[in-house]
Amino acid sequence: MTARVDHGVTSGTFSLDGETFDVENNVWVVGDDDECVVIDAPHDVDGILAVVGGRRVKAILCTHAHDDHVRVAPELRERVQAPLLLHPDDKPVWELTHGDELWDADLADGSTVDVAGVTLRTLHTPGHAPGAVCFHVEALGCVFTGDTLFAGGPGATGRSFSDAPTLHDSIRRALFALPDDTVVHTGHGEDTTIGAERSNVP
Ligand SMILES: [Zn+2]
Repeated sequence: MTARVDHGVTSGTFSLDGETFDVENNVWVVGDDDECVVIDAPHDVDGILAVVGGRRVKAILCTHAHDDHVRVAPELRERVQAPLLLHPDDKPVWELTHGDELWDADLADGSTVDVAGVTLRTLHTPGHAPGAVCFHVEALGCVFTGDTLFAGGPGATGRSFSDAPTLHDSIRRALFALPDDTVVHTGHGEDTTIGAERSNVP
């Protein structure tokens, strides 16, 4: 197997409910030397393309539609000519940033994307946002959690469109079904593992 995970960090802002914060976001790219998929499109297209490194992009996958994760998604789609995928339950969140300039195809719980000989399986994990999803790559022993699960516990639920009990239930149901040694690649900050987070979720 030649598939691997590449990583970058971009800087910008997150705005919701009338407040704006400076944030750094992880950009995750899964692929081989020829093709890849990009997970999230935060802040800076050139920063994302530096991680892609000239490979063919098969798809752009959005973990959720908060503006720090999708701000440059339409521009990235234009630059790499790849379809943009989002769970439709995040439409009201998406519209705050991009209005009626929509994504190309819907993600659904259990839907899969194949790249470089491995499969990314979508896990619908509402709570941080209604259409929040994670992507499990069993062959690589990792899961991409966006803002659903971080090193230290669940993502934030204090703002519009979020709900803490729903988030905790999603994590227990979908993520804690994965093996303890599954590496968790998050939307912000450091990696963790499923096993390390079991005691951090109510
Ligand atoms: Zn978020």
